[in-house]
Amino acid sequence: VGRSILKFMTGENIEVHYHEETYRLMTVDGLTQVFNRRYFNEALEREFNRSKRYDRLLCLIAFDIDHFKLVNDTHGHLAGDNLLRQLAAAVKPRLRREDIFARTGGEEFGILVPEIPLDGARTTAEKVRRIVEATPLKVDQTMVPVTISLGCAMLGAEDATPDDLYKRADERLYEAKQGGRNRVSG
Ligand code: GH3
Ligand code: MG
Ligand code: MG
Repeated sequence: VGRSILKFMTGENIEVHYHEETYRLMTVDGLTQVFNRRYFNEALEREFNRSKRYDRLLCLIAFDIDHFKLVNDTHGHLAGDNLLRQLAAAVKPRLRREDIFARTGGEEFGILVPEIPLDGARTTAEKVRRIVEATPLKVDQTMVPVTISLGCAMLGAEDATPDDLYKRADERLYEAKQGGRNRVSG
């Protein structure tokens, strides 16, 4: 009508759309469009309880970009943000539907891998490492080589809380950093 585009929605549609959008904003990270930390923590708790109760396998992969501070210092924080977006977009479509991929911190990500033993999670982690290494991430027209370090852990009897599993994956990640970066540990 004139210069306006009007869209007809019934009351119910508006309600549903509103709730869907609210849910999306609460669970998805605005920069990278992968799940946010809040969603990841809830999913981890849910999967942790399910795995304990039904004796199912559960692995967690934590990863962190190598020397990301250098990227920011060289190209600026906005370029750094742009690289985070490109990295997430490269990894997300290559994971399985049941894997839960989230940005857990500034330049840190987590992948929750249900129903897979530790060597399977290692294979997934190695695949992600290779994807990032091989994906041309760009700032303006310049290629910026980016690598990540990853830590894997599988839920075990020693994990009393979801956080225990997370901490063990994080310890392996630290090990991967100490071991020279651009590698998987765990
Ligand atoms: P390494 O992990 O290999 O030990 O080195 P690093 O330089 O990546 O160190 P660290 O993991 O401690 O990274 C923190 C740096 O990541 C600090 C900051 O420059 C950058 N960073 C963290 N969050 C963001 C973000 O949301 N956007 C951008 N652009 N940079 C971020
Ligand atoms: Mg970090
Ligand atoms: Mg880092």
